This record gives sequence, structure tokens and C-alpha cells, in this order.
Amino acid sequence: MTWLSGGDLARPTTMSCDVAVVGSGPAGATVARALASAGLRVLVLEAGPRVLPAQFERSAFGSMAATYRGLGATAALGAAPTPLVQGRMVGGSSPVNGAICWRLPRDVYDEWCGQDDAVAHGLPWPALEAATDEIEARLGVAPTDPAVAGPKNLLMARGAEALGLEHRPIRRNVRDCRGLGRCMQGCPEGHKQSVDLTLLGDAVQHGATVLSDAEVVELTVSRGRARGLQARTMGGARLTVQAGHAVVLAASAVQTPALLLRSGLRQGPVGHGFQGHPGVSMAGRFLEPVRMWEGATQGHEVIGLRHEGLKFEALGFDLTILAARLPGWGRAFADRLPELPHWVEWGVAVRSRTRGRVFSVLGRTVVRWSPSPRDLAQYRRGLRVLGELMLAAGAVEVAPGVRGAPPLLRDLAGLRALEQDGPRGAAAYPAVITHMFGTCRLGRDPRRSVVRPDLRHHHVDGLYVADSSVFPTNLGVNPQVPIMAVAALCARHVQGLSPLQSPPVPPCAPPT
Ligand SMILES: Cc1cc2nc3c(=O)[nH]c(=O)nc-3n(C[C@H](O)[C@H](O)[C@H](O)COP(=O)(O)OP(=O)(O)OC[C@H]3O[C@@H](n4cnc5c(N)ncnc54)[C@H](O)[C@@H]3O)c2cc1C
Ligand code: SF4
Repeated sequence: MTWLSGGDLARPTTMSCDVAVVGSGPAGATVARALASAGLRVLVLEAGPRVLPAQFERSAFGSMAATYRGLGATAALGAAPTPLVQGRMVGGSSPVNGAICWRLPRDVYDEWCGQDDAVAHGLPWPALEAATDEIEARLGVAPTDPAVAGPKNLLMARGAEALGLEHRPIRRNVRDCRGLGRCMQGCPEGHKQSVDLTLLGDAVQHGATVLSDAEVVELTVSRGRARGLQARTMGGARLTVQAGHAVVLAASAVQTPALLLRSGLRQGPVGHGFQGHPGVSMAGRFLEPVRMWEGATQGHEVIGLRHEGLKFEALGFDLTILAARLPGWGRAFADRLPELPHWVEWGVAVRSRTRGRVFSVLGRTVVRWSPSPRDLAQYRRGLRVLGELMLAAGAVEVAPGVRGAPPLLRDLAGLRALEQDGPRGAAAYPAVITHMFGTCRLGRDPRRSVVRPDLRHHHVDGLYVADSSVFPTNLGVNPQVPIMAVAALCARHVQGLSPLQSPPVPPCAPPT
């Protein structure tokens, strides 16, 4: 139907629909598109604003303030605060993410099936594969074009080749990417095929309404069935939504359990089991100019140590963020600034086994998570390999950014010492989590899971969870496409279809 803003709603309002979808990220957009194309009246509620490509802020900090949750500064509390970075806008994190696309790895799926046969029942592999094929085609997923990779990505290939580690150009959801390197502030030219420009546009063309600037505060449940929800609009209005058929939660693995808890739905392990992929990074200086701001934001990855739970990626940030990684302070730091074009930063994502928990405290969302000693050992190992990749690619010095370790390393012995003898405390490592999972897991046993195999809440009819809250574990790879595949199957369950029945989504003209 249309795009609306809660900024324009200042008086108490009631809206009705067949299905209310909470959150417009990869999960919510996928559900909305599938259900709208099946003829259901869909209303998507999104807490953040709608931002068009030309409106993206240029600076990293301006963009975080405008499009990230809590200015990009929310954190899990634990042995050391670990930032939990999430988008908060129409499209969720998708408009500001790195555009990296991975299919759900078969080994992770088999692990899930080994834990609970609900997975094979509710999310059959052939149905996930077919949904992934369809989504990848719609989002234009393809390996990074070497013509736009730029030096920071090509150097990673050189380093991996020298070390004999498996590597490849990253598969990304972009069309005609010009290598502007601004994916994490939002592609200013709309080349990234984020869900706001693709799946949500399709949903609107099929009749869905997307209401931005409207935060859902509570679900309405009576006689064991979800009836709708209450929201607060940016214009200050209280909004009542009546959903005749279902309410689908797609607010992310942090906000979905928080909303259930706020609504008094505390049955089962809701909020328990939080997992992430904490990431740490290494900066390195090359003699030749690398100009990290040029080239595909994240265009190359090293996957040869995925079996160890380590995945390495080239990074692409605004220069202000890269500058924060230069060694030294005061005059020494200022003297280093002219070197900026020679520095790059690469990261490692860790498949941590550690579980945390999401709470709702006086209406505020709190996440508790601390890295385990094994995670800290993985950080050190990941940093060592990042340093080795950089030195093998020709870097003259690398900066691990670890408090209590040497600020600059120039040889393999220093990197080995960092892995073996580096600091043991969590506060030494500036880790960040951008991938979150596992807080409303699916399963057959309501004591050990929150949703049934068909992703319906164990205790509330008409209430579904479509995001990575339902994943039994983290993945070790970038999750946006697996999230969309699972959400596509959730949409089939909402319609009462078998997940193996795949009603085609009718094609749309490109959204305006
Ligand atoms: C900087 C960054 C880079 C990343 N890079 C990649 C990458 O390259 N590849 C990849 O696969 N993944 C990447 N990710 C992760 C990926 O983007 C997320 O896993 C994915 O977007 C999660 O999808 P989702 O729909 O579950 O949640 P989200 O994308 O978080 O969307 C949830 C939406 O719900 C809204 N919401 C929450 N609560 C409410 C409420 N109460 N009422 C209304 N709306 C609400 C939020 O505002 C948000 O817009 C990255 C993430 C970040 C932050
Ligand atoms: S790398 Fe640049 S051009 Fe390509 S999608 Fe990202 S921001 Fe857009």
C-alpha cells in the first residue's frame, strides 16, 4: 500500500491488518513480502526512520546517530562492555551492513538437527535452499567484481595466497557497485541491495504498509492468542494495532525477547542463550598507499580457518574510525596522520560458544554477555593470523590495538608472542558484536525452547518469531541471508502452509 511515518501521527490512532510485523530488517522484510504477495493485509512497524540513499550522513558518527540503535553505542554488560551494533531504521541493519552474503552452512544445519529434530521438521533443508536461491536472485548476490575491489581487498588475497589459506572474493548483495566503500554509512547511490530498497519495496507494491518511527511497546494477548499490539509514534501518539490473523516478531535477537518480556510473556527460556560473533581487528601499514576508503567496503574473506571458528574479512570504514587505530597520542599521533592512506584494517569474526542473556529491566533492554577464556584465546589467535596475513601481503608494521600488548609489531615472533602471552583480561580487547542469535530458540520442548518447530510461540497462538532469535546457535558466518531464508519459511507457517510448499512471489517493477 504505502510508506507512512509515525512522525505524522500525533493523536491516538487505531489501525487494523491481517498480520502485524514488528521490525523491518531482513527478517521482517522477508515475511512482509511473502505475506503481502499472498494477499494478506500486512502492516510493518519500524521504530527507526526511513532514510533514502541520498539522505545518508557522510560522517561515520553522523550516520551512527541517524541510523544505528543507541547511536551505535549499546553494549552487552559483562567482564568488559562489548558493543552490540545494530541498525535502527527502515531495513534494520541491512542498509548499513557490509553486504556480505553467506548461505546457511550445511555443517551448521546438521549440528542444529543433531540437537533437536524440530529443526528438520520446521525448517527442512530443501526448503531453506530454495528460499535462499530466490532471495539471492532478488538481491543480486554475486562475488565482488575485481574491478571495484580496491587495494585493501586485493592485498588480503595476496596475504592469504602467501600463507596457503583458502580465501575468496566476498559474495555481496550489490548491483553496479562502484566501490565507494561507504556500505556501513549507507550506500549513497543505492547500489547495495538492502531490504529497504528490495524486499520491502516489493511488499509495498503487493499492498503492505510500512510505518516507520513507530516503536512497539507491548503485545496484546488475550485468551491465549495474539490480538495485536501497542506502539508509540515519533509524533507522540499511542497507536493501537489490531491484527486479525497473526503478529510476527522480527525485531532482532535482542529486541524480540525484550518485547516478549515487556509484554509479560516470560514462559520458557526467553532471552536465555544469547550468542554472537565477537570480532576484533588489526590495523597495518603498507609502504604503498592503500587508500582504505576506496574499493568495495568488504570485498575479500579468508575462510581457511572456519573449522576453528575464525573467519577473516577486509573492513571498510570512514577514515575517522581508521584514524582511531593509529598508534601513539598527542604529537606522535598527529605526526602519524599523514600516513593514513597507507593503513588498512582487517577483522576476524569468532564463532564464540559462550551464551549470555537478554533481560528487560524497568522497560529497558539489558544484555549480559562476557567472553570466555576460550573466546579470549580465539581473539589472540585471530589477531596473530591477521598480522601474519598483513605481513605476508607486504605490511611493514601492524597495530593490534590490544591494551597491555606492544602497540606495534613488525615480525612473526611478535605475533606469536601476542597469541601465546597476550593479555588474559576481556577489557584488553576492543571486540564488537554485530551478529546476534539464539534468544527465543525453536524446539519441541516448551521448557527448553520458546517457539515450536513452525516458529509459533509455545503458549500464544497467532504469535510467531521470524528472526535469528530462533536459531539454536550462531553460525560462524554472516547471517543476513540465512535469516531471510528462515523468515521466508516462517511466512509459510503463518499461512498454514507446509514449508516445502513454495508459493512463488510474483515479480514487481523496481520500487521507486
Ligand atoms: C555494522 C553492521 C555490519 C554488518 N554486516 C553484515 C554483513 O556484511 N553480512 C551479514 O550477513 N550480516 C551483517 N550484519 C548483521 C546483519 O545485518 C543482521 O544480522 C541482520 O540485519 C539481522 O536482521 P533482523 O531482521 O533479525 O534484525 P535487524 O536488522 O536488527 O532489524 C530489526 C529492526 O527491528 C526494529 N525494531 C526493534 N525493536 C522494535 C520495536 N519494539 N518496535 C518497532 N521496531 C523495532 C529495529 O529498529 C530494526 O530496524 C551486520 C550488522 C551490522 C550492525
Ligand atoms: S561499496 Fe560503495 S558503491 Fe558499493 S554498495 Fe557499498 S557503498 Fe555502495
